[in-house]
Amino acid sequence: MKTKVICPGSFDPVTLGHVDIITRASKMFDSVVVGVLNNPAKNPSFTTEERIELLKKATAGLENVEIVAFDGLLADYTRERGITAIVKGLRAVSDFEYEFQQALFNKKLNPDLETLFLTSNSDYMYLSSSGVKQIASLGGDISSFVPECVHDEILKRLK
Ligand code: ADP
Repeated sequence: MKTKVICPGSFDPVTLGHVDIITRASKMFDSVVVGVLNNPAKNPSFTTEERIELLKKATAGLENVEIVAFDGLLADYTRERGITAIVKGLRAVSDFEYEFQQALFNKKLNPDLETLFLTSNSDYMYLSSSGVKQIASLGGDISSFVPECVHDEILKRLK
């Protein structure tokens, strides 16, 4: 059986931490769906379309990766698409409680669905989209936080 997994998130905008998790998942599974949460209520800085475009550029070299927008329940979406597992990056203890709860909710809603955690690359443990946005808005250098191919685009939008 082919293994299809999903990496869900806001990706507002994509960081090197996200690309690291997606790349590692793409080596382990036959196909990886990157699910961009369509969440206008959360007031994202980048539109869903912009976040998808940035992710497409940042993962252009990964042939088994597909970028999609999704809303609604992940437990339902994964069932519809034949996805067997959610793959998430786990940064530090602070991520754990929330992620553990989400994983248990999803297991209840869809017992066939597994949640797998990859430990964050130690270089990116501190990295978050919100941190990148804050630094860019204050005129800081974000070149070591976001993929080079989308750096200028991200910076232009956040300044
Ligand atoms: P954030 O807004 O906190 O950066 P997202 O909701 O976009 O995060 O995250 C999507 C997924 O990427 C989540 O599973 C999250 O744990 C993971 N992730 C985000 N940043 C990192 C990082 N620096 N290292 C590892 N995983 C990360």
